[in-house]
Amino acid sequence: MAWIDSHCHLNHERFSHDLTDVLQRAMQEGISQFLVPGTAFHQWETQRALEQKYPNIHLAYGIHPWFCDLHNEEHLEQLDDLLNNAVAVGECGLDFSPNKPSKEQQMHWFEAQVTLAKKHQLPLIIHSVKANDVIASTLKKQPTCRGVVHGFAGSLQQAQALIKLGYYIAIGTRLIHSRPKKTAALVTQLPLTSLLLETDAPDGLGKQTRNEPKELIVVANVVAKLRQQQPEEVLNICSQNAQELFQL
Ligand SMILES: [Zn+2]
Repeated sequence: MAWIDSHCHLNHERFSHDLTDVLQRAMQEGISQFLVPGTAFHQWETQRALEQKYPNIHLAYGIHPWFCDLHNEEHLEQLDDLLNNAVAVGECGLDFSPNKPSKEQQMHWFEAQVTLAKKHQLPLIIHSVKANDVIASTLKKQPTCRGVVHGFAGSLQQAQALIKLGYYIAIGTRLIHSRPKKTAALVTQLPLTSLLLETDAPDGLGKQTRNEPKELIVVANVVAKLRQQQPEEVLNICSQNAQELFQL
């Protein structure tokens, strides 16, 4: 079983000087597939170059809520084109924390991307901060769409509602380091068949420390310990989930 980091920003400039080594370190741990989502139009080209160089990198394209106000309708057409060669739409979503683009703007771009996911029959990679209920009610209107809520930090009830709609919940480095109680509630109460694992590298370990896909092992170890299962079993099942969702 190829273990999968279901969310890592390997096109980030913090990896530009040593990505081959970063991937090597992950592969030494058994993590050999990488899902790289996009966040804004100016990154789409660098993502494409990555995929050509590294066959085990898989791409999603999207417009992140933080950057949605940088986009116009032409970018949406460009995105529509790129999605012909992608495994998912994202990351997209809603972030209602302070100093972000307006709710109206964010809703516009999120709904547009849900429509594209439906058109291309691709899963959605969703960023959701202080917005889980609005996300759920938006997704409810498109019952054929599926996807994952990445870096999940909501309540158990919100997670269960999203799973019921056909979405996976992704557990990442940030959650296990910063919210141990919440992590415990989610990973012990939710079925492993509804979870994905991710690092969100280079983010997830605070501003100073660069996160890397190899840290997925740490995430798996925490989940395994809480569930009293073997880490390999957790990695196998969560990677199978990712493989199934993204059709890898
Ligand atoms: Zn991300």
